[in-house]
Amino acid sequence: MSGGLPTEAIERARATNILEVARRGTSLKQDSQRWWSGPCPNCGGTDRFIVNTIKRRFSCRGCEARGDVIALVRHIEGCSFPEAVERLTGGRWRPSRGREPFICGNGSDAAPEAPDDANRNLGPARRIASSIIPPIGTPGAAYLRDVRKIDVAAIEDILWRTDAIGWHPSVYFNAQEYPRRGDPPHPLHGQRLGCIIGIMSDATTAEPTGAISRTYLAPDGTKVGKAKTLGAPRGIIRLSPDDTVEGGLFIAEGLETALSGMAIGLRPMWACGDCGLMASFPYLVRRRIADRHRRQ
Ligand SMILES: [Zn+2]
Repeated sequence: MSGGLPTEAIERARATNILEVARRGTSLKQDSQRWWSGPCPNCGGTDRFIVNTIKRRFSCRGCEARGDVIALVRHIEGCSFPEAVERLTGGRWRPSRGREPFICGNGSDAAPEAPDDANRNLGPARRIASSIIPPIGTPGAAYLRDVRKIDVAAIEDILWRTDAIGWHPSVYFNAQEYPRRGDPPHPLHGQRLGCIIGIMSDATTAEPTGAISRTYLAPDGTKVGKAKTLGAPRGIIRLSPDDTVEGGLFIAEGLETALSGMAIGLRPMWACGDCGLMASFPYLVRRRIADRHRRQ
């Protein structure tokens, strides 16, 4: 026995094909007879996540997660050891304590089967983006209103859409070393948190780039750290549609700054994530709004 789990259940879980499990969470290409690589189900990238089918272990250079198939299920789903074993053994064993349902890698529900085919090969950022809901009425909107003091009613039109911004109730929070490498884990590391999601699109073509920004909120409704980008390449968050920006455009560095600006009438507006992207901006810009102006 281990933690109340029958050893037999753990062994049966460990016998699961790690490659099949990994491919439910990310798309992998075969590099050699034993190595497969692709984006990490949690921290993205292109080839940082590696599965060794002989040793039946995985590792990620980005978030430095590694281990066997049980660790992999925990890595993908942010669940506990018993829950991972339960998933892998098809639910025959159940944890004695009731647990909150948590969202699978495809962002749907806690069903143990593989994500549907439409979602199976999507990168983690696209998978999150495909299951966001309009932020209006969510803890995300409450954060903007109560913590950031943004007049949410004035940007209701923006918060009803999901093409540029959305709310996801349950995104894996990876902060194993926080805030810097070598530091201990963040107290919320490994949990699934609600997130305000910004959808990034190409500034010129308007095509989604596949990247998103994530603003994590703690269970008490406050922001956790800084917003993080997932996926690549980065793009802008198109809060105002293209047909409104021809006469000029406001751009802000961060999503929240952009929304504050829009609430006081600074439109059309795009958020562009960081100063580097802002400096190389291809458009005629009416005014740049830097984060240092956010509390004016
Ligand atoms: Zn990773």
